[in-house]
Parts: sequence; C-alpha cells; structure tokens
Amino acid sequence: MTELPSPGLRQGEPSSRAARRLLLVHAHPDDESINNGATMARYAAEGAHVTLVTCTLGERGEVIPPELRHLTGPALGAHRRGELAAAVRELGVGDARLLGGAGRYGDSGMMGIPDNGDPGCFWQADVDEAASHLVEVILEVRPQVLVTYDDNGGYGHPDHIQAHRVAMRAIDLAAERGHRIEKVYWNRVPRAVAVAAFARLKDELPALPFGESAAVDEVPGVVDDQRITTVIDGTAYAAAKAAAMRAHATQVAVAEPYFALSNDRAQPLFTTEYYELVRGEVQVGESDLFAGVGMDAGTGEGS
Ligand SMILES: [Zn+2]
Repeated sequence: MTELPSPGLRQGEPSSRAARRLLLVHAHPDDESINNGATMARYAAEGAHVTLVTCTLGERGEVIPPELRHLTGPALGAHRRGELAAAVRELGVGDARLLGGAGRYGDSGMMGIPDNGDPGCFWQADVDEAASHLVEVILEVRPQVLVTYDDNGGYGHPDHIQAHRVAMRAIDLAAERGHRIEKVYWNRVPRAVAVAAFARLKDELPALPFGESAAVDEVPGVVDDQRITTVIDGTAYAAAKAAAMRAHATQVAVAEPYFALSNDRAQPLFTTEYYELVRGEVQVGESDLFAGVGMDAGTGEGS
C-alpha cells in the first residue's frame, strides 16, 4: 500500500485505537467524494478511523479544465492522485491508500472500449490477487464496516464492477484469516429521492452553468426505495463534501446543490447519503452505519 502524497495522511488516532473503523473501497479518485463525502466527513469528525482504498488513478477519464487537457495517462494519474489527497483533506480523512500501491492497477476506461483489454488495467486484474492487497489493509485496520458498490458497480463501469468483486472477495478472505467485517453496505440512492431532485434540477437548469440535465439512471446505485436500509444525514457536512468534490477539478464541476462530470450533464449533489446493508444485521430505521456493532477498541476478534 502506498500512501497518498499529503502531510495530513495517516495521522491522528492510530487505527487500532479508534473504537469505530470504517473502510470504503472505490474505483477512481472522485468516487469517494461523490458517493460518500458527507458520510466520510461525519465519521472522521466523530473520531472514527476512516480508511479509503482507491483502486485506480482514473488516468483514462476526460479532463474538464481546458488548461489541463494536455494531461493524459500517467501524468493525469499523478495529477488526480494530488486531487484525491486534497479531497480527503477536505473530508478530514487521514488514511487514504491506493490498492497495491500507486500505479498498480490502471484505469480500464468505460465499458466496451479497447482499453478494457489492457493487461495492466484493473478490469483485467486477477480478483484474488487484487483482493490480497485489500486483505492486508483489512487485517491491519480491522474495520467493523465496509462500504462499496453493488455487483453492477452502481452503473456498469468496469472498474466499479471490479472494485465490488475485489471488495467482496477480500471480505471473505479476511474472515478466513481471522477478521470478520460485521456490516457491509452498498452505495445507493432511492429512486423517489432521485426523481424529486431531478425535477427540481430541471426547473433550475436555466440558471446553472451546465449544458443539460443528466437522467435519473445515470446516477450510480439508484434502486427502489424499499431497498434502502440506512440513511446518513450529512447536512452538517455539506460544505466539506462540496469542497472535496471541487478538489477533483479535472473531473467534477460543482454548483451547489448540483454538479456535473466531464459530460456537462447536471446531477443533484446529495448531502444525505443512502445505503443498502447486504451483510450483517440491520437495525430498524438505521441512521448510523455502526448501529448494533460491537465496539472493541481495536482489541476484538482478529487481533
Ligand atoms: Zn469511478
């Protein structure tokens, strides 16, 4: 594991001492802030140990600012590594890592392009081999809670699908080696919330600095409302989430409470974040990812 270049990283409470430990597994820089920025900021502020593992550096994505469009490949990856470090600083998160170290897995690009076949890309990685790097993080940090994407990666991007596969495999491999993660969540957005937010967006679009509205199904993880088990009200951390998203300037343009990716299609910026518990015992009306979790101060099973 390689640390991101930031003086703020890996400081603060040692992971083995914080009572609550949350691990998030993401595909590219920006995914953490867009999906979980408010959640990460909240738990970090509350003293939980928040660990982010990002699987690629997003070096095949598009670049928004014209003055940075010369950046491609490894140069773009290096730039996005810096953006990621700035984003996690905004969220107050001190433990951000790249799966297998910087550059271990390349961005695979959108589904269906020839880059998907590059032997160095994450989509081509052996799941067990990639999971072995994540297992080492799990055994070190011993998180009680893990957050990642559903089996379609939220919206079908190869790196997101692979992040899901690697995370779910690592959970099983870590359990075999003595650390069982108590609760596993997938990122979600309830369809009714998305539909209502896009209705507001449509009204406000003429005043926004974006070309057009995205569609509801472009939002990763949209599902029927009844699948949502857990709601994290991140209203108090809205500013931190927006600042973290702005830190990803090559990928994200923010005009609160909306944002757009490089396609210039506006989406709602959700400060309440939603989850579906897929492993572990759900509590009724969960508003805390750690609800029902035993607090072991880092000395519980697996240690
Ligand atoms: Zn992504």
